[in-house]
Amino acid sequence: MQLDPRSITVMTALMAAVLGLVLLGVRRNYPATIRGLLPWALAPMTCAFAAGVYALQGVWPEFAVAQTGNVLLLLGCGLFYFGSQRFFDRRVTWRLWGGIALISLAVLTWFLLWPDYRVRVVVFTGTMTACVLAHARLILRDGHGFAARLIAGTLLLQALVLIGRGLATFWVDGAQSSRFAMTTVQTTYIASYCFSVLLLSMGVLLMASERVREEFELLATRDALTGALTRRAVLQAGGEEFDRWRRYAQPLSLLLLDLDHFKQVNDRFGHQAGDRVLAAAAAVMRQALRVNDRLGRYGGEEFVILLPSTDAEAARALAERVRAALAAHVPEPGIPPCTASLGVAWAQADDAGLDALLARADEALYRAKADGRNRVA
Ligand code: GH3
Ligand code: MG
Ligand code: MG
Repeated sequence: MQLDPRSITVMTALMAAVLGLVLLGVRRNYPATIRGLLPWALAPMTCAFAAGVYALQGVWPEFAVAQTGNVLLLLGCGLFYFGSQRFFDRRVTWRLWGGIALISLAVLTWFLLWPDYRVRVVVFTGTMTACVLAHARLILRDGHGFAARLIAGTLLLQALVLIGRGLATFWVDGAQSSRFAMTTVQTTYIASYCFSVLLLSMGVLLMASERVREEFELLATRDALTGALTRRAVLQAGGEEFDRWRRYAQPLSLLLLDLDHFKQVNDRFGHQAGDRVLAAAAAVMRQALRVNDRLGRYGGEEFVILLPSTDAEAARALAERVRAALAAHVPEPGIPPCTASLGVAWAQADDAGLDALLARADEALYRAKADGRNRVA
């Protein structure tokens, strides 16, 4: 018993066309920062056209069916790849792949005029395999998360089927074989197109929505001016670190940092210059911190720095390092230099929560200001 390859082809065309339409709809509703959705939407549609053309075998002349179908299928495969290149902000290599496709099509034309089906299968599956593997490589390198694994897995499986089909042609096909031959190899090959178009379209859709979610998460947790965590995000992280300190008794310290005489910066140089000083100060702080330390904007020109797994001595040393880095920083022309005062606090046995640390750090900061600023207390 065999599935009918022509029916599978027609069903593939319909499903792929619908998926393309869904992707077009998604493109209208997603932020413009999500790139690549247009080629991704055109890809399954082009594959749908290809399948529709292949299904015309026996209706159209074979030369027209084969050439149009092959051009469209290569284009569809390329469009999926180009969409991913845009999505990951890579250079779109359409010239290179257009050239490869043209050479491949020239060879296919030759063996249509002097027919040998087997050579055509090898050339066509070979070209497709190259494109699919290049695409898989890009996804494996730049992608992360479930959607990327789904896409890479689909592409690798598709490459396997393509290679299998190319090799099998020497056993199962003759020089005059046809596309809809009822062989298991051919049915598997055609069905695999159906699945990969389906899975790739869903994969890119998922990958785009994962990206949207990440962008929104970033917006919600990052302060736009300084790139530091927002007050809410850093306090939440601090609460989690405090729980970890209590459970595992790993040391936890915290710094409160306030820029010195910042009001004068605004008054003398203007609010915009003040904003640039703030952004530059945050960048200097990030440089001085370690990977696991977290910088948050507590409000105005005050920052809170979480120091997980850091005891009082190490926290004091780090605070001094941050202070010195800010004091030594040479700002761009037209922007005044700026120092900061820091208060250090660390978790102690009878602390009820992060608030206790914040209160002590605030007291220490007040003392640092009173003692003359540009210092750690
Ligand atoms: P001190 O050394 O005692 O901290 O003096 P100060 O002038 O820094 O202290 P104060 O807290 O009185 O002033 C903080 C100023 O920071 C007031 C406010 O206008 C300014 N500020 C707060 N947020 C921003 C901001 O986002 N951009 C700019 N440009 N200024 C800000
Ligand atoms: Mg201040
Ligand atoms: Mg202040």
